[in-house]
Amino acid sequence: MSKLSGKIAVITGGNSGIGLATAKLFASEGATVVITGRRQAELDAAVAEIGSNAVGIQGDVSTLADLDKLYAEVKNQFGHIDIVFANAGIAELAPIGLITEEHFDKIFGINVKGLLFTVQKALPLLVDGGSIIFNSSAVNTLGLEGFGVYSATKAAVRSFARTLTTELKERKIRVNVVSPGPIETPIFDKMGLSEQQIDEFGTNIATQVPLGRFGRPEEIAQAVLFLASSDSSYVAGVDLYVDGGMVAV
Ligand code: NAP
Repeated sequence: MSKLSGKIAVITGGNSGIGLATAKLFASEGATVVITGRRQAELDAAVAEIGSNAVGIQGDVSTLADLDKLYAEVKNQFGHIDIVFANAGIAELAPIGLITEEHFDKIFGINVKGLLFTVQKALPLLVDGGSIIFNSSAVNTLGLEGFGVYSATKAAVRSFARTLTTELKERKIRVNVVSPGPIETPIFDKMGLSEQQIDEFGTNIATQVPLGRFGRPEEIAQAVLFLASSDSSYVAGVDLYVDGGMVAV
């Protein structure tokens, strides 16, 4: 029996990395997935890769009008939502002395404001008993150099999950967080680092992971599937670290 048979799932940032791996897994478990992203060509390619039970809707999560457009289209096509995976996010690094207003506003605008309104605007369509999953990060509890603003956004995400778990309890909506460790996705190519810096960063970070390697997007997707499905029916408000043991030891 498929775990998400007949479910409608919205996955922001579903055209790449963790979001795409999750969309593929959800679809293989019987869900119809609505994926979003800013880049139309990547969105079209992802929809083609996932197959007939996928729909792509272009938009920027930090632009509220785009979220309104997303949910208007979801309402038209499906009438309701069962699962929201608020996954879209960016990572750019800057040590304290180099943090600019632009850096701060951009990362908080996407990772925090975008995520919060992704959920707020989904609520009228989300069924009672539905599931919300936030993508945070293992760095929500670590103090890695250069990660100040990014880590703070991910700690804010974790915090929202606590409050929303309480606020949505009457509707039996479960809110949970997945916090990946370092995962092999295109995110590292978008950090503004040189290839050498990426290699050094990768080698250094892998040494901090007890399992000694980067994770794969599919390994995060499995955890998101658990939190999205009835397998986790008594799990609410948790932060599930899928990080090779990085935070636990
Ligand atoms: P990725 O491959 O770069 O995917 C990021 C996704 O987010 C893309 O689909 C991107 O599509 C979308 N996105 C970015 N900004 C957006 C915006 N303003 N509006 C709508 N969509 C937007 O990276 P990833 O590693 O899979 O990252 C996914 C999530 O995992 C992020 O929240 C990230 O912080 C988190 N995470 C990643 C790691 C890791 O090591 N990879 C670790 C911990 C947490 P467009 O560019 O087309 O908009």
